[in-house]
Amino acid sequence: MKKLLINGEWTAGSRGRTRKIENPATLELVDEVVEGSAEDVKLACERAAEAQKHWKEIPGVERAKMFHEIAVKMREDRAILSDLLTREGGKPRIENLDEVEWSAACFDYYGEIARHSHGSSIPPTGAHQVNFTIKEPLGVVGAIVPFNYPLLLLTWKIAPAIAAGNSVVIKPSELTPLATLRMVEHSMDMLPRGVVNVVTGTGADVGVPMVDDPNVACIAFTGSTAVGIQIAVKAAQTLKRVNLELGGIDPLIVFEDADVDVAVQGAAWARFLNAGQVCTSAKRIYVVKAIAKEFVEKFVEHTKTIKVGNPMDGETDMGPLISAKARERVEDQVKRAMAAGAKLLYGGKRLDVGPGYFYSPTVLTEVTPNHPVVCEEVFGPIASIQVVKDADEAIALAAKSEYGLGANIYTKSLNYAMRAMNDIKAGTFWVNDPLTDNDAAPFGGMRKSGMGRELGEEGLDAFREPKHVHIDYVQEKKSSWFPYARRKGEIPK
Ligand code: NAD
Repeated sequence: MKKLLINGEWTAGSRGRTRKIENPATLELVDEVVEGSAEDVKLACERAAEAQKHWKEIPGVERAKMFHEIAVKMREDRAILSDLLTREGGKPRIENLDEVEWSAACFDYYGEIARHSHGSSIPPTGAHQVNFTIKEPLGVVGAIVPFNYPLLLLTWKIAPAIAAGNSVVIKPSELTPLATLRMVEHSMDMLPRGVVNVVTGTGADVGVPMVDDPNVACIAFTGSTAVGIQIAVKAAQTLKRVNLELGGIDPLIVFEDADVDVAVQGAAWARFLNAGQVCTSAKRIYVVKAIAKEFVEKFVEHTKTIKVGNPMDGETDMGPLISAKARERVEDQVKRAMAAGAKLLYGGKRLDVGPGYFYSPTVLTEVTPNHPVVCEEVFGPIASIQVVKDADEAIALAAKSEYGLGANIYTKSLNYAMRAMNDIKAGTFWVNDPLTDNDAAPFGGMRKSGMGRELGEEGLDAFREPKHVHIDYVQEKKSSWFPYARRKGEIPK
């Protein structure tokens, strides 16, 4: 049974309740985890606030050493971390090995850039003045994480937050807390007590009190738009900072000059990666008519080759969905799309490749902009292909969305690329290389896909605020002070 981490102590929490963590591929019990409560959150946030007072004084160069050690330990522990990620979340082991590496790299990156910048020097407005800014940590950061990339989306928050001198209280998804607990216990044990705390449990029991807690200065949240809005509304009542990484219905355009074979495989990977449970999945695929027939035929053939099965198997391309509820939701979305006129070219059914929540990679065409699979976020392996007349129509339809997380295109034309880049509102724009992130570049969404950025220097600034310091090193009386009678002559007649 796995416990909560509060102020360096592993505790069974105030409630004495546990939750079973199920393997979504095999339905076997992976482990049990303590269900945290509002009381546990309060204690963790108090202790984190105390720990932060000392942590913020540690020089960046020392923090950097600890961060590199964390990264080394994570890499050494990759077999266990990727095993846990696979058994609790259902992603193929190969993808989870990548996730561990990317998460370790994030610690290396923030260890260095946090000691590189601390504010700036500003030209003064008068004689014998000195002006500069220092970027101060916010205090305690509450990190609330979804199920699909439990370590990666966590490290994008806690690496910059801790590097900037904050302490953190982590709330993993109630479905996937195990790799997080392992990483904190095994790889982050050199950090002073209380700097990192973990309270596992549900959104209602742990997430809500964390957003309300007076010791929490900032909520860094990744998850659905619906929950993100609830958090923003609540946080506004105490003017708590929020960084919100929310849902997406990203477009992927294949222009007529694209290499069709490359675009087919790129688009299929961008849609079926992690069984379509990726915020930046290519959820709307637009193909220009001139190449549509060839693209769709090849896309269906390629989809048939995707190997669905136990994610522990090294040859598996796609595992199950995370839960029974998630699969039912996807089934319902496909059913409604087909009732509205979408045509099923492949899949559209459960797969009997194991006891878990498997669903076939699915290809739909003749979808229209108002179909549920196009205007609702589909968090499952459903490729929705829309054939469009030409490049203008492709860009116009791709740009039409309430969301703005990412956008992908396949083209050799600089003209198409620049027009699409200008017209489509999205936090990341990928040309010929879908879904590739870079620790040094900001990641985040526009519109209903969120506010704020993770990664890059922006991701560090999300957890710091500037203080302007103004110094006059000569003490003298100023002519602008009282009495104003001295300045009477300045008033226009
Ligand atoms: P979710 O919103 O259901 O849950 C996310 C986290 O919030 C979980 O830890 C959950 O327990 C917690 N939570 C739930 N209700 C809460 C509340 N009222 N207050 C505080 N916390 C609460 O999301 P999910 O199903 O775990 O993840 C899928 C969603 O996440 C999709 O919409 C996906 O697009 C989005 N996502 C976005 C990004 C991004 O970077 N923009 C990345 C991954 C996933």
